[in-house]
Amino acid sequence: MNTQNSSQQSFLDWIRSLDQEIIDEIHKKQHEAVLNEYKGFEEKFGKGICYICDSELSEFQPDSPCVHWLLAPVGFRKKHFKDVYNRFGFYRIQAFLRWVANTEIHFQNINDLVEEHSGKKKIDLTISFRNLRWSFSCSHTDFKGHGQGLSAVPHYHFQMYVDNKHFIKYRDFHIPFGDEDLFKINIIEDNPDVIGHKFSFGEGMQDLLDSTDSDELIRTAVPSDKDQKGTVHIQTLISSEEGIAWEDVEKLMKEAKDKNVTFASLAHKLGEKTIKLIEPGPAVPQTAERKGGRGSKSKKK
Ligand SMILES: [Zn+2]
Ligand SMILES: [Zn+2]
Repeated sequence: MNTQNSSQQSFLDWIRSLDQEIIDEIHKKQHEAVLNEYKGFEEKFGKGICYICDSELSEFQPDSPCVHWLLAPVGFRKKHFKDVYNRFGFYRIQAFLRWVANTEIHFQNINDLVEEHSGKKKIDLTISFRNLRWSFSCSHTDFKGHGQGLSAVPHYHFQMYVDNKHFIKYRDFHIPFGDEDLFKINIIEDNPDVIGHKFSFGEGMQDLLDSTDSDELIRTAVPSDKDQKGTVHIQTLISSEEGIAWEDVEKLMKEAKDKNVTFASLAHKLGEKTIKLIEPGPAVPQTAERKGGRGSKSKKK
């Protein structure tokens, strides 16, 4: 048993030994800590300040690498990305970008949908914000390490677009996972029944679809003017013994618009049974397939 496995095992043993009450308490504490951090982020982000380094988000100081550089401040070049990932691990970079994306609109900017990905990749997600788009990719081969040198250790690849133009390409960097990242990835994958992971306040489309309380989600969703921009398409199927008068439907549509709530949230007024289907809307960023480079070799099998 290697060190990683034995520390994983002792962590699992520890978790299994805990009473539910203690686990709830840990969750509560964790949530409070993240909430505090998020509040700090949100407040400063609104003023154009980075809550991590306290400089302006538009500022680039080569001697103090920060994850806010991924917002492409003037002076930031591809080569500087190395300083960012040397200082910030995979989860922290991702958590930051998820928070940024969700300041624009919740869920929709983060395409982490399992169904939309081929399954060949261990990690595959795209996050967008304004004119920026970032993607993370890690194949099973990347995770094992391939070739020699930097790519021989477990690593992931990163892509960044600015104004629809490539800024960083997947093949530009082999980004090594830190020990903490590896520990998390392995323990979650090996023990999904015991350990889960959630990007609090950085929820993406998968969280939206996994949400057990879709009614709650529908109530709190704010409808978009054009269907094109909608995060979720809510298809409401209304069935009623007596049938439904179209005027009633129109009246309800107006009520929904006035109250700025979705039609589906009021649809129960029309009939006994309503079935709500939630599916991803078209504004969710497309998944960014990795073509060419080393990644394509794995296709041959
Ligand atoms: Zn910063
Ligand atoms: Zn690779």
